[in-house]
Amino acid sequence: MFCEGNDQNISSELFILYFSFSLLRFISFIPFFPVSKSSPTDLFPLLGSHVPTIGGVATAIDRAVGIGCTAMQIFVKNNMQWFAKPLPDADAKAFTEHPLRSRLGVVVAHAGYLINLGVEGTENHEKSLKSLSDEMLRCEQLGIRSLVLHPGSHLGAGIEAGTACVIRNLDRLHGEHPNLKVRITLETTAGQGACLGARFEEIAAILAGVKDPKRLEVCLDTAHAFAAGYDLSAPKGAEQTFAEFDRVIGMNRLSCLHINDSKAKLGSRVDRHDNLGKGLIGLDTFRWIMRSPELATIPKILETPKGKDLAEDVEAMALLRSFLQKN
Ligand SMILES: [Zn+2]
Ligand SMILES: [Zn+2]
Repeated sequence: MFCEGNDQNISSELFILYFSFSLLRFISFIPFFPVSKSSPTDLFPLLGSHVPTIGGVATAIDRAVGIGCTAMQIFVKNNMQWFAKPLPDADAKAFTEHPLRSRLGVVVAHAGYLINLGVEGTENHEKSLKSLSDEMLRCEQLGIRSLVLHPGSHLGAGIEAGTACVIRNLDRLHGEHPNLKVRITLETTAGQGACLGARFEEIAAILAGVKDPKRLEVCLDTAHAFAAGYDLSAPKGAEQTFAEFDRVIGMNRLSCLHINDSKAKLGSRVDRHDNLGKGLIGLDTFRWIMRSPELATIPKILETPKGKDLAEDVEAMALLRSFLQKN
């Protein structure tokens, strides 16, 4: 599916890589990489996708490692519901002590979509705090250190009021959980509707406003940034975008990248992910990202359309890894 367009070299490269990959898989009897002990550097590039947890949270590790991920993102509960039953300790243990857990250099969680820290004084405000608090505790149970969160929507109150609200809510959560290791990882957004976090300045304002900014990290989503108006459609624009990220937020804050192409146009403020090379960002930028020394240690997670067998993720990761080969 990545063979469309006019980049024939990519398609033949991909075929060779895919062929070698299949051969390696055959030789090594399913475990994709014939390593038993892995230090994080063995696992570079930290590359993976958002993986379903159907059948129990530990099954996500089997799925992720089974398709060759070295990083993984999951939801720690149903992402479209406020609350879930407590996570049994046995389930958490099956995850943290999973025999393949060491094959994943990084696991991040993505917070539920109903949570909104951008408004106060509503029923959903208290639900949001409780829901996020529960997710922080679930992450702690699972040994997950990053919980990716969309900063929130001001629902018409304006960016300034919404930002102040997010800051108060984050301070409250940090105050309620002084000793948790998990860090809330603010994700840049497309700025759809009244969503905060489209401009890097909006994320920077939250970091500057909270009492304990060291407890926050940042995730950049390429599709969101593009839709928010950062022109990632060519490597030059990508270079400028990351330079601006560094100037406004600081590269030391970046703990995760969401690697998504965009169906929606530059500056459209519409959040529509597409498979790599199918959207308006294009492969040249993803090649640049993979080859950027500054981004080399940052986990890169795909959130692109896929079927149940995750075949699209396998293809996309093979393509991204092929960009690291010298030619
Ligand atoms: Zn997200
Ligand atoms: Zn998105």
